[in-house]
Amino acid sequence: MTDRLYYHDSFLYDFDAEVREVVNSPRPALILDRSAFYPTSGGQVFDKGWITTKANDKLKVTEVADAEDGRVVHYFEAERDFDKTALKPGTRVRGQIDAVRRRDHMQQHSGQHVLSAAFIRLFNMPTVSFHMADDYCSIDLDTPTLTKEQIESAERLANEIILDNRPVEVRYVTRAEAGELGLRKLPPTERDELRIVDIREFDLTACGGTHVNQTGQIASVLLRKSEKVRQGWRVEFVAGQRAVATARRDFITLTETAALFSAHIYDVPAQARKALDEIKSLRKQREQSLEELAAAHAATLLAETPETNGRKLVVRTFADRDLNFVKLLAQKLTRQSPSVVALLATSPPQPSLVFAQSPGQPNNMGALLKETLAQLGGRGGGSKDMAQGGVPNVDGLADALAQAAARLSAT
Ligand SMILES: [Zn+2]
Repeated sequence: MTDRLYYHDSFLYDFDAEVREVVNSPRPALILDRSAFYPTSGGQVFDKGWITTKANDKLKVTEVADAEDGRVVHYFEAERDFDKTALKPGTRVRGQIDAVRRRDHMQQHSGQHVLSAAFIRLFNMPTVSFHMADDYCSIDLDTPTLTKEQIESAERLANEIILDNRPVEVRYVTRAEAGELGLRKLPPTERDELRIVDIREFDLTACGGTHVNQTGQIASVLLRKSEKVRQGWRVEFVAGQRAVATARRDFITLTETAALFSAHIYDVPAQARKALDEIKSLRKQREQSLEELAAAHAATLLAETPETNGRKLVVRTFADRDLNFVKLLAQKLTRQSPSVVALLATSPPQPSLVFAQSPGQPNNMGALLKETLAQLGGRGGGSKDMAQGGVPNVDGLADALAQAAARLSAT
């Protein structure tokens, strides 16, 4: 078993060790007699860092994992071709932990202890799981409901405990002793000796992770998103430098948004609401204007189209109108006159056809459109009085319209 130095000192970033074994598959890895590297466990992710050999090969430690037999496995990538013989068992090496990463993990993980205890103290909501991602962390609370006020209260209490700068101590007790202490959480394994993390007069829990020595080193806890999950409620949070970095990012985002509105950041919601209301009202006005425009356009078209054989045949292609407008126009034409047949088309960006006739006219617009679309390789359909479809491009569109008009006249 590897002697785990982080159990005794979370702030040990440099250590000497001896190589026990070099593993080559599936990836190159080192096993040492002792290590300060933390392997992924209990929601806390692994440390990164470097292992330097006597021959001065600096190996980059990219992942650290627990082996089933209690050994710590250090996966590494060599910075250059290194001398493998320099790693034979018994070789002395020096380990260096990426201190920035470790400190961040200690802040997140210790912050989680404080936060989980706060939810228990205030609302008796136990934490059932903890997850640490690269940019945020989350806990799952076993509770059917969670309010915004409860989240804010837990955040406030957690930050008060941080401000108290309470000692965080590690003790070893037997399982029986642990039972009497009333731990927040007992590990499921049947080990007899338990490592207890004690945040003075606030939280007692069994944990093998790396923690700060004083709650003040957590610096702060900031609660973020909360959402209902299968088991209860998930609460995202960030602690320490991450909290500052997250608040900084939020501020930049808000500032950029506020600049768009020429407003103060706290006025952004009101400004955004106002802008959305304006957009809604403008859309309504636009729809109304289009209706009026289509009606006027229809009236003009009807006035300039002579009636022959009891019908007014309108054949038009519009280059600057979309399908919606052309449909609207077809509707107005067929409502304003009892004897209209309209064969309308739009050109790019999406060439389309709309065929319509006034109710009571004897043709079949759906059938006529299908014939025309077949000619152009398009798709669509509709009823006897109104049909629409799209075609892949404008080639042959004008000819196809003329042919459809000729077919109508022939009937
Ligand atoms: Zn812990």
